[in-house]
Amino acid sequence: MSSSAERRLGDRIAREIYRDPDYIDDPVLAEYVQGVWQPLLAAARLRGDLSPELAERFAWEILLGRDRTVNAFALPGGYFGVHLGLIAIVSSRDELASVLGHELSHVTQRHISRLMAKQGQQAPWMIGAMILGALAASKSADAGNALIVGGQAVAAQNQLNFSRDMEREADRVGFGVMTQAGFDARGFVSMFDKLQQASRLNDNGAYPYLRSHPLTTERIADMQSRQALIPPNPVNATPTAEHAMVAARARVLSNPGVDALRAMLAEADGDKLATLDAPRQAAVLYGAALAASRLRDFVHARGYLERLTALVRSDARAARLSRLLAAETALAAGDAARAAALLNATPTGPGEAGGEPSLARRPELILMAQIATQARHTGRVAEVSEVTQRLQVWVAAHPRDAQAWQLLSSASALQGQTLRAIRADAEAHVAVLDYAAALDRFKAAQALLRQGRASHATLAANGAADHIDASIIDTRQREVELLFKEQSLDR
Ligand SMILES: [Zn+2]
Repeated sequence: MSSSAERRLGDRIAREIYRDPDYIDDPVLAEYVQGVWQPLLAAARLRGDLSPELAERFAWEILLGRDRTVNAFALPGGYFGVHLGLIAIVSSRDELASVLGHELSHVTQRHISRLMAKQGQQAPWMIGAMILGALAASKSADAGNALIVGGQAVAAQNQLNFSRDMEREADRVGFGVMTQAGFDARGFVSMFDKLQQASRLNDNGAYPYLRSHPLTTERIADMQSRQALIPPNPVNATPTAEHAMVAARARVLSNPGVDALRAMLAEADGDKLATLDAPRQAAVLYGAALAASRLRDFVHARGYLERLTALVRSDARAARLSRLLAAETALAAGDAARAAALLNATPTGPGEAGGEPSLARRPELILMAQIATQARHTGRVAEVSEVTQRLQVWVAAHPRDAQAWQLLSSASALQGQTLRAIRADAEAHVAVLDYAAALDRFKAAQALLRQGRASHATLAANGAADHIDASIIDTRQREVELLFKEQSLDR
């Protein structure tokens, strides 16, 4: 299978995943994962595992799933799936890097395309349906069956498994990539131990990753010989507060049931909390505050947040996460003004990234845009206008950010810029590869323009700007038309 055909197949699968209700674009978790992922990609390029051509042709994009089971997998075309359950159980960035480096190597070593080639003459849509079926089957039983395609999920899973040799190669190359990227090799070892422990407990239901990655005697032997090369410094068993808080966030977002949320509160209220080290206390308080917010118990959420803020005061990264959560919670409580104030508050912790405007980072920007565009939140014209400008700069650099486009659409609509709002809405659909829906919107914008020209109303009010918007819309409509035709080719 050629790399461009594989990319088209990957796009087809990704488009379905974007539509799945379990797909989640949480800016805090996404940023954390990117912080591990981008150095791995850079290292793979540096080592020559990832050719410039493949780097350019494939998506290299991670799609997060709300599932609480432990799983990560490579898909055709350079797409990757990561369940929140994996983020919730790793103890460090290094452990996460060891899993992502392994999956990355399945793609750079072209294991996926070799598997695809084995599917012989099957139509790409058939292979796509099989992969989606296998993904649905690997989800936890109560996660819903949104992705089930046909009844051959289990058979498909077996056909799509990598060979033992491929797994060993992904271990070897992945280890090289993660260490080259500067991650601690001991993360590879401790992750392996973690999986071995789960495997001994026969915890297959919670660890679908173990089903696709059985710990064969060869892999264990490879692991032991690699371990001999690693300096035997004691592993620092304490996670950073930042990591522990991110893991707690993954745990809450993947366990939205009331009982699970209440259990998070109980953890923060129990006597055991005081016996934990500071990072773990921070994680418990963070999880409890987020859980209370989800339960709409904002009084308790604020109580946990106050304790958390005091605890992480001297840790800049952790303090930032707690500030973001405080703003997010205020917004959920309907207090947009307070949310904005919290987000704009001057960082108090020592060593906080100085000089960098806070809105330059995606979680802050997305949250500020959500605050500014809340329907009930009126009378903040300047805020909406500022956030619109920042979003425009952001999407110019990150055109595949669907959430940012969607917020730009809302912000433009609030300012009466109807054409720009429709165009941004169209781009949000392009970003999730739904070209048909995007074309509908471009056509709606063109119809509006014709109407405006007929009545001279729009042009009179907004002349030059509309003229520019009109030409952008025409150009983009033609480009997306081409993408749509290409997408329909591989039937
Ligand atoms: Zn593997």
